[in-house]
Amino acid sequence: MQYSESGPVSRDEENPFESMKRRFEVAAHYLDLKPGIYDYLIAPEKQVIVTVPIQMDDGTVQVYEAYRVIHNTALGPSKGGIRYAPDVNLDEIKALAAWMTWKCAVVRIPFGGAKGGIKCDPTRLTQVQLEKITRRYTANLLEIFGPEKDVPAPDVNTNSQVMAWIMDTYSMHVQKTETAVVTGKPLFLGGSRGRREATGRGVMLVTMRMMEKIGLAPKEARVIVQGFGNVGSVSASLLHEQGCKVVGISDISGGYYNPGGIDVKKVITYMESHKTLEGFDGADPIDGMELLKQDCDVLVPAAREDQITSKNAPDIRAKIVVEGANGPTTAKADKILDERGILVVPDILANAGGVTVSYFEWVQNRMGYYWSEKDVNKRLKRIMKESFDEVYRLAKDHNVSLRIGAYILGVDRVAKVVRIRGIYA
Ligand code: GLU
Repeated sequence: MQYSESGPVSRDEENPFESMKRRFEVAAHYLDLKPGIYDYLIAPEKQVIVTVPIQMDDGTVQVYEAYRVIHNTALGPSKGGIRYAPDVNLDEIKALAAWMTWKCAVVRIPFGGAKGGIKCDPTRLTQVQLEKITRRYTANLLEIFGPEKDVPAPDVNTNSQVMAWIMDTYSMHVQKTETAVVTGKPLFLGGSRGRREATGRGVMLVTMRMMEKIGLAPKEARVIVQGFGNVGSVSASLLHEQGCKVVGISDISGGYYNPGGIDVKKVITYMESHKTLEGFDGADPIDGMELLKQDCDVLVPAAREDQITSKNAPDIRAKIVVEGANGPTTAKADKILDERGILVVPDILANAGGVTVSYFEWVQNRMGYYWSEKDVNKRLKRIMKESFDEVYRLAKDHNVSLRIGAYILGVDRVAKVVRIRGIYA
């Protein structure tokens, strides 16, 4: 398990679903959506809350609340990760599910949006307990999941092992090995080459494209990455590989800043034996939230929601913010960053590399034929580049931020399909 995602800092600004709605409203205005379609697109199709009991080693029973929200399936089976965290709640999962709908539409993959979560603290659970929770959650949602219905994936605090348990539990119930029911699986169990790195690779690709647009050479770019989990660590190493100078990183143990540059390879090796960044001596320790305000050119929030709020947005010094996490910037903060001329490459574009390679994994499972890493990365690069360029052009045409450009693109694609399909009654 990776626990290096920073915990949420401020959820008081507005709830994530409201934050999502506010951007949707602006996009809807540009698209001239009819009120009925507007209501239909914003409402989740299905919201499931299940109780997950497990028996502990001493015979006592612990009960957890868990969720799966299917936001929209107009484009295809719903797709989205499952997160394990103590503060998971329905509003957060609803917002994340809607973001998956727009995200899949932005990168033009034939999936709808969903998200799931279990309200638990994985740091306090053993592997055996995690397996029990995962299997019971899957069993409770057998009617929801399915390769042609709803396909989960990893998210905060879940990984390929958790996906393998989901796949196995589902397969036991349907009496056949069904790899395509979940993505982000281990490589030898139907996983795709390049899936683990895909979100970070996508972040790197859009960052390079954005830098190109503003004439910032990789060698001149100083980067701060918040969160050193799967997304943050891969983004940092790939940006480093491109010649950028990574000057700041962080995880649950706090921030680490070195204006002279951090040796990312050294950090990765350090993490392998230490699990967290605590004690890393290649940079000066700094408060995790203070790190966001340090001088840099590119800031990659790759931890959790609500990290850049109206409180710290006036102090952000980056030229570009690339959202590796889902919802790291609140709607209020968006406005401030926009007014200050800070360019934000929004989550539904910036971190779409993950679900894109999840789609490749699902396709490979269904074909029974597996691609080389080179093929996966080449296809990912093409999709990220084309999607970035479409969002950029729309934002320019409408004179709006890249965030609103991305919403216009995603919402329009879903709305068009809804119109053509019509409303079944
Ligand atoms: N959890 C990732 C996301 O938020 C991946 C979802 C998926 O691959 O289905 O985009």
